[in-house]
Amino acid sequence: MTTMRAMVLPKPGQPLVLDYRPRPQPAAGEILVKVEACGVCRTDQHIADGELPPPPRLPLVLGHEIVGIVAGLGENVREFEIGQRVGVPWLGATCGRCWYCVHGRENLCDSPTFTGYTRDGGYAEFTVVDARFCFGLPPRGDAVHTAPFLCAGLIGYRAYSFVPADALRIGLYGFGASAHILAQLALAQGREVAAFVRRGDEEGKRFAIELGCSWAGWSDEMAPHELDAAIIFAPVGALVPAALRAVRKGGVVVCAGIHMSDIPSFSYRDLWHERVIRSVANLQQRDGHAFFRAIENLTIRTHVQVFPLEQANDALNALRQGRLQGAAVLVP
Ligand SMILES: [Zn+2]
Ligand SMILES: [Zn+2]
Repeated sequence: MTTMRAMVLPKPGQPLVLDYRPRPQPAAGEILVKVEACGVCRTDQHIADGELPPPPRLPLVLGHEIVGIVAGLGENVREFEIGQRVGVPWLGATCGRCWYCVHGRENLCDSPTFTGYTRDGGYAEFTVVDARFCFGLPPRGDAVHTAPFLCAGLIGYRAYSFVPADALRIGLYGFGASAHILAQLALAQGREVAAFVRRGDEEGKRFAIELGCSWAGWSDEMAPHELDAAIIFAPVGALVPAALRAVRKGGVVVCAGIHMSDIPSFSYRDLWHERVIRSVANLQQRDGHAFFRAIENLTIRTHVQVFPLEQANDALNALRQGRLQGAAVLVP
């Protein structure tokens, strides 16, 4: 039996360990993917640190920003061919039967499968995935810079899609992997972007300004102008009232993360005048297609820090400590 290397999570709260395990086999409807690159998402850190409900099966291979090559086909797979490049996102599969699936809101499915959470993901040389939930990617372009699109890009884009069309001035709270992609898209679409970073993160401020943001400041500061909308990427509940105070009447605050610390209480005055708070969960297939269409003719550069697969713990630590500019990406 052919073996492969994988970095596995033995238990939340413990570091990942290198494991040699049998290469998985694709069942009907699945494809075997040879991983070229896998991004490290904030969600991976939440799972590893036990901030989300424990994964149903342990040990677990994390990772849901996978770019790879189709290396095997299960029965009945017609969407892809061997040798084709694919992208694998967080939403691994949905039931197709619940109220949400039937109403085209499969991101809220009652019994979903998540890549790198309820099934093994991409911190490995190979992984198997449900073909229906993958995206075909162009063969050219490099895998490392494409990987962050698969979650930071896609779920970031879903959050961005809740920014009203007439919102010109938007604020991004937490300037990491998602924000640096969405900022470039928003700027290309003629919007003004204000970047909010944690107090003391001078590098983060500089990074945002370099990318073209019109203002960068601390997250407890006010931008020079009222915002029309804000997206919160940082997992910090205190940013919700801060963002509500930064948006204009009727402004929208979108919470893009899967986990956030508790939101401190705030005055109804901060929500008054039709301000809106909403969360964003997972993604729909159409978000993925819309995102890849939106960036097709743009030059969106992802800033990445590459780690060999075996150094996945270092990548997670860098993310925990806020030492990354852009996104961490693992290469097997
Ligand atoms: Zn469902
Ligand atoms: Zn993610």
